[in-house]
Amino acid sequence: MHQPPEQTKHFEDLGIARNFLEILKRLHFTTPTPIQEKAIPIAIAGKDVIGVAQTGTGKTLAFGIPMIQRIAIHKGKGLVVLPTRELALQVEEVLHKIGSALGLRSAVLIGGAPMGKQLQDVRKDPHIIVATPGRLLDHMEQRTVSLRIMTIVVLDEADRMLDMGFAPQIKKILAALPRERQIMLFSATMPQDIVRLATQHMKLPLQIEIARSGTVAEQVDQEFFMVAKEDKLRLLDTLLSQYRGTILIFSRTKHGAKKICRSVAGMGHQAAEIHSNRSLNQRKEALSGFKSGKYRLLVATDIAARGIDVTGIELVINFDIPDDPGDYVHRVGRTGRAGQVGKAITFVAPDQRGKVRDIERLVRKNVTLSQTPELPAHRPSAVHSPAPRHARHYGAHSPRQHRRRR
Ligand code: AMP
Repeated sequence: MHQPPEQTKHFEDLGIARNFLEILKRLHFTTPTPIQEKAIPIAIAGKDVIGVAQTGTGKTLAFGIPMIQRIAIHKGKGLVVLPTRELALQVEEVLHKIGSALGLRSAVLIGGAPMGKQLQDVRKDPHIIVATPGRLLDHMEQRTVSLRIMTIVVLDEADRMLDMGFAPQIKKILAALPRERQIMLFSATMPQDIVRLATQHMKLPLQIEIARSGTVAEQVDQEFFMVAKEDKLRLLDTLLSQYRGTILIFSRTKHGAKKICRSVAGMGHQAAEIHSNRSLNQRKEALSGFKSGKYRLLVATDIAARGIDVTGIELVINFDIPDDPGDYVHRVGRTGRAGQVGKAITFVAPDQRGKVRDIERLVRKNVTLSQTPELPAHRPSAVHSPAPRHARHYGAHSPRQHRRRR
């Protein structure tokens, strides 16, 4: 018999309840992303899931839809543990968007926010709690939250939580859960400590790998510039006049982020900064200003930028190459989201070639390292397109010319 070609599935094929399908339709979610297509049916069936997927692949709905549906049908409560405040607020926003019509109540428990409001929220008996590990533990210790009632638990960006030193908190959280629970673990990379965590605490989890562990979204064009430290700001200045869309700039330190933000503001750009020296309100304002277009540029450190979900970021600039190649994958994953084309440019100081090799190993790709283009002595008054003086390559790639944009 003739076999029909394998087709992209629809949300209708994944076991989602009819009323929920209506909500997705109303929100214009028509076709599931690959992680949603694979994770939703398994998670709706109540099984443990490990999802190896980068941010931007649609994983919030991949766990959000099954979580809300199972809570609506089987009762019980949900818990989402994730590394940063920003990600917590974003995830809760998504859950609220899809769940409010079904009467879903949720609470966000994050550091830096007043305890009083959180106490009020937990007293309202939320169906889902979205929390960062430290503040969740505070609530557990003060007995304002009990994890004994949690039937569905999501560990989002698990690799990042371990990198941030949250392993002891995660252990305590897992130990406080009831024996009968469903766990969904999402991580962009799968280091050994995550595998260990999963084998110890999950029941025959099904592993779904969307992008290979450590791969960068296919649709991100990546470029590396060899640039002396003292020339970085001038190179940045040149790039900021070449690219006209929204740009996310990464700094290794919070002091660096502050300095970059001040410098680009001096170059006449609307910029905001997001790092741990900013208050929660300042960080929220920076993020919403970046989303609304008030700020074209956002300067961020790795931790603060986790989970930033802004569509249409044209360019990610790694002003400082990250120490950890895993951070490179996360940073670059901010552009080229949900099928769009993105671009990432990384500044490499002459003594940082080893870091480029670490990145190449993780992303399994050879990269071209271009020399600093000719830079103007002063801020250019017109759009300027530099050509690289030399190009040094690693591996078999041919040199890529620095193209004129627009
Ligand atoms: P996430 O990885 O959950 O942060 O999602 C990344 C972006 O993809 C968000 O802006 C989502 O709104 C969007 N998104 C998620 N699922 C879908 C879908 N099925 N169709 C279109 N966009 C989606």
